[in-house]
Formats: sequence, structure tokens, C-alpha cells
Amino acid sequence: MVICSRCKSNEAVARIPYAKMNLCMECFKKFYVNKLKKTIEEYHMIRSGDIVAVAVSGGKDSAALLHALRNAYPKLEVKAIHINLGIEGYSNHCQEKVEELAKQLDVELHIIDIKRKIGISIDDFKKTKFKGKMCSVCGTMKRHIIDEAAMNIGANTIATGHNMDDYMTFIVKNFMGRQWNQLVKLKPVVPPIMIGMPKKIRPLIKFPAEENMLYCYYTKIPVNEVECPHSKGAKTLETMKILNELFKDKPNMKYQVLGSFLNLIPLLENAIKEESVIPCRKCGFPSKDGLCAYCKRIELLKSVLK
Ligand code: SF4
Ligand code: ZN
Repeated sequence: MVICSRCKSNEAVARIPYAKMNLCMECFKKFYVNKLKKTIEEYHMIRSGDIVAVAVSGGKDSAALLHALRNAYPKLEVKAIHINLGIEGYSNHCQEKVEELAKQLDVELHIIDIKRKIGISIDDFKKTKFKGKMCSVCGTMKRHIIDEAAMNIGANTIATGHNMDDYMTFIVKNFMGRQWNQLVKLKPVVPPIMIGMPKKIRPLIKFPAEENMLYCYYTKIPVNEVECPHSKGAKTLETMKILNELFKDKPNMKYQVLGSFLNLIPLLENAIKEESVIPCRKCGFPSKDGLCAYCKRIELLKSVLK
């Protein structure tokens, strides 16, 4: 039997390879919440008076984030936002799990049903040129709706559950595609793009997917067990698999690569000209040319559905 490296009494159930520790269930939960606090404080993610909206999808990462945030900062004003994306056989199940979680944690939950809001669902994009890029179009729609919802409920900060593996994948993807402007946006804290918009924070930037999964498991948080039908063959998942294979025997290297990249961001920011934005003529959100990506996609879809 392996004994917990912290309490030295209980049986260890979680191995933390980069810290060379084996932890029992209770010590792992404390370790997770402390690590979250440390990350938030290191990057000054939350300031006094902030109202934080956590974007909860029903998956393990955002569920673990909401739960641990409540534990780490019991006095912090935290709300949850969930979007029902209208994905057949998936979205309603996600919503049920989020509702259970919010009830369990006594967190104010705001649900936005995309079909009711704009009369379309993410599935509808299968009929457009985005049919091979469903996650990309879904991401654009989600970002806009969450920003808007956070502003409507008075939150000045949006916390998302992007984990370390998501991050590594975004870095590689944008680096390979020479998307320097996108690379610069991969910061732990992204300031508001326009006045009045919320800032975005990514408190799970240093959490590998397995740690979030373990936290959900040991705290018995309800999470979605159904896979999104559009995730099959998604390029991001393929890149993630390759990276996981690459770092399989060297978990420390993930942290080193991430740390080096985060140090590089200020240099990149100085070298790259900031993209100028103007308000979208339809919704007032930031756009490059007067019509934002969200409104463009709605227009395209509505013209196809006609
Ligand atoms: Fe959206 Fe892709 Fe996630 Fe499905 S897997 S919910 S399409 S981002
Ligand atoms: Zn717009």
C-alpha cells in the first residue's frame, strides 16, 4: 500500500508526478483547491469586488472549477452561465448536469437556450460551409453568448475551464498556423476587448485534464458522461492525443513548455501590432470590419435555412 505523502496515514489514491507526490483523497482535494488559489493569486485573476461568472458546460473541467472556486473563496460573488447549444442527444443532458451542480453548490445559474435566443442550434451549422469545423463555429457562438450573458447579469469577470491540455493544444495549433495574434490571446488573464466588457480568466491553466477529472470524482460532482457528436475527428482532439503521447513519460516537460510560452507572451505582444476593432453594426460587439464573427455566422445560417 502506498501511503499519502502529505498526511502520512491514509492510502494514496492520486499520483502527482510533477510534484513527486502520492496523495490520499482528502489531501488531493486540499491540494487541488490550494493550487487553484495559488494560480489565481499568481496572475492576479480576481480583485476585490469582482463578480465572477463561471461558464459551465456540464463537463469535468468547468464543473471542477466552479466547485473548487466556491471552496477556495466562499465570500466571492460567483454565478454560473450555461448555454444549451441545441445539440441533439447531448445538450439537454449537459443542462441537467449543470442544474444539479448549481443546486448542490447553491450557485445562481443562468441558462441561455440558443434555439430560444436566436432560433438556431449548433447542429444547424452542419448545413453550412462550417460542417467540417463545427467546434470552431460552436466556439465563436459560445464566446459571444457568454460575454453577453455575463454583462447582463452584472459580472465583470468570466472564468472558463480551459485546462492545461487545452492550452498546449491551442499553442501548438496557433503556432503551426502562424496565428500570432491568436497566440498572444492565450494569456491567463485577458483584459476586456472593449469598455464595459468582462475580463476573462483561465484559472485551470496549470491543471492537466486528469486532475480535474479526479477532483470531480472525489468530490462526487455531477458531470456529463455523453460525448458531443461533433467532437469525433475534431483536429483539436487529434493534436491533444499526439501531445499527450509526447509528454506521457515526462509530465514535467508540459509545465516547462507552458511556463516558457507564458514568459514569451509579453515579448510577442510587443512585436505584434494589436488588431484594431470597431463595434459591430448589429450587436455592438468588437469586429474587424463592422460585422462581428457571431453576427456573420447567424446571417449565413439564416440565409442557408431560408
Ligand atoms: Fe461545441 Fe465541439 Fe464542444 Fe461539441 S465538441 S460542444 S461542437 S466545441
Ligand atoms: Zn455582431
